[in-house]
Amino acid sequence: MCSGVDMSQWREQFSVFRKRPEWAYFDNAASCQVPDPVLDTMLEYQRELHANVHRGSYQQSQHATALFESWRAQIAGFIGASADTLIFTRGTTESMNVLAESLLRPRLKAGDNVVVTLSEHHANWLPWQRVCEQVGAEFRVAGLNAAGQVEDIFAHVDSRTRLVALNHASNVMGVINPVAEICAKLRQQGVLSVVDAAQSAAQLNLDVSQLQCDALAFSGHKLYGPTGIGALYVRADVLDTMPPYQVGGGMVDMVYADHSTFHRGVQGFEAGTPNLVGAAGLAAAVEFIQGCRAKGSSAYLRALFGQLKDTIERFEWLTCLPHSDGVVPVLSVHNPDIHPRDLAVFLDQDGVSARAGRHCAQPLINKLTANGCLRFSLGVHSNAADIQRLAEGLEAWQREHK
Ligand code: PLP
Repeated sequence: MCSGVDMSQWREQFSVFRKRPEWAYFDNAASCQVPDPVLDTMLEYQRELHANVHRGSYQQSQHATALFESWRAQIAGFIGASADTLIFTRGTTESMNVLAESLLRPRLKAGDNVVVTLSEHHANWLPWQRVCEQVGAEFRVAGLNAAGQVEDIFAHVDSRTRLVALNHASNVMGVINPVAEICAKLRQQGVLSVVDAAQSAAQLNLDVSQLQCDALAFSGHKLYGPTGIGALYVRADVLDTMPPYQVGGGMVDMVYADHSTFHRGVQGFEAGTPNLVGAAGLAAAVEFIQGCRAKGSSAYLRALFGQLKDTIERFEWLTCLPHSDGVVPVLSVHNPDIHPRDLAVFLDQDGVSARAGRHCAQPLINKLTANGCLRFSLGVHSNAADIQRLAEGLEAWQREHK
């Protein structure tokens, strides 16, 4: 029990933890384990309901199409959006590439600029940087304050700024940026805003109308769903201006020898057969998360994060990077004299899985640490026993390296 919530209700829903009850899995920020209801939904779809969508006139295909569109509506609802603004992608990385090519490139001229923050994942850095380099535009990086939040982003925004892309929560620190405030101001200034919600979607109740962003992306596998599926929200009037990203079946309207016409709206961004099983899984994952939240998972995770932090702070040779209060339960630690990979491999021998390295955020890590860091991130299945196992692993390291 933690914070009055019986956590076993969630852990028991993961077959992987029923098989390996002792496993202390601390890499949820990279990929969550997938609970049974999500796996069952995917299997049931594939076994009993599968047919290609938006194509067949037979009943099974019509049924699959209706289901697919109902999953879209459900996932859109999860972030306060309408179904006609939600594009299925492979994940946040692909979403940012779609936006860089179809939203930014047509608007960007030499001498313009794009602003990101120092704490971006490479997925929210490289696509913008590449277009800027190709067009001759400036790629600007806003720094962070001591708490790890973006600092004075508007010092970097001027009349030539076409787009600002920033994370809602950092994948290294879990620190939450004040995106609603920033996006509202950007909108007043006529600057496009893109939010990387890969780390926040599982933890926070997102509402795009409240966030006032022009686009927002997240990945299925970071919210207890499968890999290879993600969602990209684009505000309707902005979506209307965007040319297709990829072309092919499904997104095309009429094809002639001399020209072709394409569907408008979200379907115009889904070339080829969509990841139907993935969409089924993502919709089920959204339902799973909503069920967990209704039963107190947010408070549970915050309390457990407190335990994690207290435990780690007992080991004075580890320094914590800036972090949140557990709303996004990610805690990274480092020591200039210990390679984080050595510590990760040591802990792994006792079934403690944490992630070492630069976490696809080299600019941030290069600023904060000499040699990368070791990241611990919690999921609803995490429990006090995981943290105890971690403490024992750190004690063993301490004994061996006195
Ligand atoms: N943005 C953030 C903040 C992330 O944490 C990640 C993945 O770690 C990504 C983007 C990229 O997500 P994906 O690998 O699912 O495309």
